[in-house]
Amino acid sequence: MHELSLMAGVMDLARQELERHGASRLTLMRLRFGELDQVLPDALRMAFAAMTAGTSWEGARLELEEEPLELSCPLCGHRFRPGARSALYAPCPSCGETTGFGVVRGEGVFLDHLEAE
Ligand SMILES: [Zn+2]
Repeated sequence: MHELSLMAGVMDLARQELERHGASRLTLMRLRFGELDQVLPDALRMAFAAMTAGTSWEGARLELEEEPLELSCPLCGHRFRPGARSALYAPCPSCGETTGFGVVRGEGVFLDHLEAE
């Protein structure tokens, strides 16, 4: 399950962050995930609940924020939001180029914010 391994990685990061700041109990975690990753927010919530159950992190809040996809054209440098996932293969709205787009935003899962005590 994609979301379970994602969440496990994020929890490791969070644990390290808390240790660095001398905190032990997580109260809030905010994650940002890219539209391109096709993460299921409900599955992330379930993974988070399962992994914190019975630990000192139980009851911590999880906030999720989806980051919209933004692409850049390799030919003219135009940046655009394709709007729909299928439009990843649509031509550049500025020059009509159809391949080699770079992903500016909207890919990956990031630990955005932590609150702990
Ligand atoms: Zn272009």
